[in-house]
Amino acid sequence: MPTPYRVRPETEQHSFLMHPGEHVGVSTIRVPGTDWRITFYTSADASMPLLLAYIALGGAIALAIAMTGVVLVLREANRAQMLRTAIRDPLTDLFTRLYMKDAIPPLVALHDRHPDQGFSMVMLDLDHFKRVNDRYGHLAGDRVLAHIGTLVREQIRAGDIPVRFGGEELAVFLPGEGLEEARQCAERIRQAVEKTEISADHSMLSVTISAGVATHRTGESVSALLERADQELYCAKQSGRNRVCVEGTSRPEN
Ligand code: GH3
Ligand code: MG
Ligand code: MG
Repeated sequence: MPTPYRVRPETEQHSFLMHPGEHVGVSTIRVPGTDWRITFYTSADASMPLLLAYIALGGAIALAIAMTGVVLVLREANRAQMLRTAIRDPLTDLFTRLYMKDAIPPLVALHDRHPDQGFSMVMLDLDHFKRVNDRYGHLAGDRVLAHIGTLVREQIRAGDIPVRFGGEELAVFLPGEGLEEARQCAERIRQAVEKTEISADHSMLSVTISAGVATHRTGESVSALLERADQELYCAKQSGRNRVCVEGTSRPEN
């Protein structure tokens, strides 16, 4: 027993005799048949490690909860970003080919049921784009592609579906539109690209684009439609580039 408590206290209030922070009385029992009591004390110092352990444990639990929250928020943000990247091409902000594979077949099926509505597409490919990369560098080429993405989105209507089909190859699907509307759309895009100048390497560069237009035939698969639009694109390239070829017409549009 610590020295201050070796004498029997005069009062029942043992705790008044104690020195807070040093010793704490934990229990008192009477010695049967006497007026003696035995009081058990514990050192406050002894409880300090326990207190620190509790504080550390509480802190660790709070930290774990906070970290779990942060991880969940980051994981959700990452998932949303991955989903967006699967749907939208980050460079051009056009839809991806992956998205096209899901989105177009239902529209083709809808057109099969309502053939009077029309369903057409435009296939586009930048002309001599390799030269742009070779002369101005790949980063400048990327800037051109990003700009073309913006131009395409500006020239189409709500409901049209612009897709980055491949490297410098784009496609626009026009639900509800016939061949003539698709031709006009392709022509608007061609002219907008032709007019645009993009700064690169302390100078301005301009590019042109070729386009092939085809319309969906009832019962035809998406790949058959793409194939026919691609043939028209090939026709535009063969006819000198920077032009629109439309299926069923014998010569390019300009
Ligand atoms: P054509 O008129 O016959 O289409 O000629 P082209 O040079 O455009 O066609 P080619 O297929 O020979 O070359 C396509 C070029 O497009 C080569 C490739 O490096 C470039 N390209 C494709 N994707 C990207 C891209 O994401 N960024 C950049 N900077 N270039 C790309
Ligand atoms: Mg090309
Ligand atoms: Mg190409």
